[in-house]
Amino acid sequence: MEVKKVLSDLKRRFPNEPEYHQAVEEVLTTIEEEYNKHPEFDRYNLIERLCIPDRIFSFRVTWVDDKGQVQTNTGYRIQHNNAIGPYKGGIRFHSSVNQSILKFLAFEQTFKNSLTTLPMGGGKGGADFSPRGKSDMEVMRFCQAFVTELWRHIGPETDVPAGDIGVGGREVGYMFGMYKKLAREHTGTFTGKGLEFGGSLIRPEATGYGNVYFLLEMLKTRNIDIKGKVVAISGSGNVAQYTAEKLISLGAKVITMSDSNGYIYDPDGIDAEKLAYIFELKNVQRGRIREYAEKYGCKYVEGARPWNEKCDIAMPSATQNEIDGDDARALLKNGCFAVSEGANMPSTPEAIAEFLNAKILYAPGKAANAGGVSVSGLEMTQNSIKLGWSKDEVDEKLKNIMKDIHNQCIRYGKQEDGYVNYVKGANVAGFMKVAKAMMAQGIL
Ligand code: GLU
Repeated sequence: MEVKKVLSDLKRRFPNEPEYHQAVEEVLTTIEEEYNKHPEFDRYNLIERLCIPDRIFSFRVTWVDDKGQVQTNTGYRIQHNNAIGPYKGGIRFHSSVNQSILKFLAFEQTFKNSLTTLPMGGGKGGADFSPRGKSDMEVMRFCQAFVTELWRHIGPETDVPAGDIGVGGREVGYMFGMYKKLAREHTGTFTGKGLEFGGSLIRPEATGYGNVYFLLEMLKTRNIDIKGKVVAISGSGNVAQYTAEKLISLGAKVITMSDSNGYIYDPDGIDAEKLAYIFELKNVQRGRIREYAEKYGCKYVEGARPWNEKCDIAMPSATQNEIDGDDARALLKNGCFAVSEGANMPSTPEAIAEFLNAKILYAPGKAANAGGVSVSGLEMTQNSIKLGWSKDEVDEKLKNIMKDIHNQCIRYGKQEDGYVNYVKGANVAGFMKVAKAMMAQGIL
């Protein structure tokens, strides 16, 4: 494989998809060496079959808003690869959603799911619909209209959607309800469900907790204690909230959180009580993070990201490309020595190069945020055996999975000088498993 050629072909065949090109480039450049050790891969044209999704569904979603006006949005489901298990991945509802963003997410998901050690292929879906500012009834009608199209493509052994940005327990509940009605079955076709109807304990916490567990594994390699470390978090949704909760319980100091309007900086640290306010503000009132600054009298910076604040550790937990080269340089200049990604692809290629050059602990999302989909996998298992595991059981399994992912990164990412390139480690480990499964199953 010649990465340049593969990339230029993909760009020509699928133009105007910059996020997809970015994700593919990162993976191909890091797996090139390992890939080329296996000439049989090229004979089977594994690379194109791995980069191009198995199929993409796109459809119009029509719904009626509270004023009685008829609205349309575009919905998608990308079934990327099912070599190691049913397609699995979240649904994103956000105004920015387009085919390029979902293709990058489905591609990433395939490698992430491979790393989890569980039998899950990769997929992603969503719509350019933003639940923000919509009434509960509007969200319900949208979810129902979305699933009216989606339902025929998914199923417990075919494709299992879950949440992502803009899709939490409420949206999954509405989608699952409509699916159940149309398919006439009560199965584990969605994960992230409510506890009363097949959801798993620890699923809401899993991405954030998992990211902290991964961070602890990285810190262990350098004998660093998390206690007292200053952490900058971006985002204030599900991932950011539970990342903060776990960090605070371990004695770290969380100084920032953000939303798409700006960030708050609390030099005293967000404590358990202030965090409870954030849970209420974001999950119940569905308000803005600015209100935290008003309540607690701290700094709020409109229209900016938190990366210029001095911290030891950064945990980007908002969205893709939220740390650019300048942000990365600012973090490094201020002494940041670890970055662990809760979001998918939050660092630009330039930022990643800065982190790797500086040889800091840097965990890409597909390793560090894999806890969410891992517990989704555990939810699927519980649904299949029609049993529910205790909180401790699921948490223990999550910890072990994060440890295992860390070990795989070390195995494939440790350099001669001892530095662990987690990007390479995660990509090669994730790739090898999918590649072997694809080879064994023939040309499809
Ligand atoms: N959206 C999450 C992710 O990016 C979770 C996916 C899932 O649970 O299927 O991994």
